[in-house]
Amino acid sequence: MTHLLSVNGISKAFGGNQVLKSVTFDLQKGEILGLLGPNGSGKSTLLNAISGFTAVDSGTVTVGDKRIDKMPPHKIISAGIARTFQLPAMPAKMTVMEVVMTAGTRHHGLWDGLLSLPSGRQAEKEDHQKASGLLETLLLTKVRDLPAAALSGGQKKLLGIACALMGDPAILMLDEPMAGVHPNLRQELAETLKTLSRTGISLIIIEHDMHFIKSLCERCIVLDRGHIVASCHPDELSKNQDVVDAYLGR
Ligand code: ADP
Ligand code: MG
Repeated sequence: MTHLLSVNGISKAFGGNQVLKSVTFDLQKGEILGLLGPNGSGKSTLLNAISGFTAVDSGTVTVGDKRIDKMPPHKIISAGIARTFQLPAMPAKMTVMEVVMTAGTRHHGLWDGLLSLPSGRQAEKEDHQKASGLLETLLLTKVRDLPAAALSGGQKKLLGIACALMGDPAILMLDEPMAGVHPNLRQELAETLKTLSRTGISLIIIEHDMHFIKSLCERCIVLDRGHIVASCHPDELSKNQDVVDAYLGR
């Protein structure tokens, strides 16, 4: 398998708090990688570092042979890496459909849109179809005309995934996608993510729900106080003393 993403020796401190300590791992094409670790171990910071929301102190991140670690977030999105947030914020007045449409990164050309040229109308129609399809996939069709801010926490997570997918990413990073999602929807979300990975998208998933992780991932990495202490199949985790110690706070 080819390495799609390579993270090499990433370190990050906030003041005196060394949150990431020379973190190194690879992601393969089509892989679903679990990112585990107790609260405060640095998982969200690692996603922020890869997606350019947090500048790292040292280390490199490459996609294929392209260095992305000094790029601003919008360039990293253009390089094919999308992410969702642990606590998604939604604009107060926009509908669910409008939010997804706004997430389309395709450039239609200002004049195409303003003058309502056929090329602009065609592009908008295609985006609309794509957005409708994604809302359907993420079980949000019924709420597409509601204000996004009125959605439940779980639905906001699903909307965040729909937005991330509008840009056709090669890599999608999800920060606790199951938290707040109704138990009845979890299995469907897991199936949706499996389908995505079969289309060639690689996923990095931060998640505490081990049932979900086991149903999706062939490999997990575990962070403990900024160090990766394990990289293994999810079934191996409970036998790994470093992982057990991480969760017991030893
Ligand atoms: P996790 O996602 O594993 O729960 P985080 O990456 O959110 O952990 O946080 C790891 C540590 O980094 C925590 O001690 C947190 O307080 C600290 N931290 C995260 N973001 C910031 C920030 N922007 N400024 C200062 N400290 C931060
Ligand atoms: Mg977090």
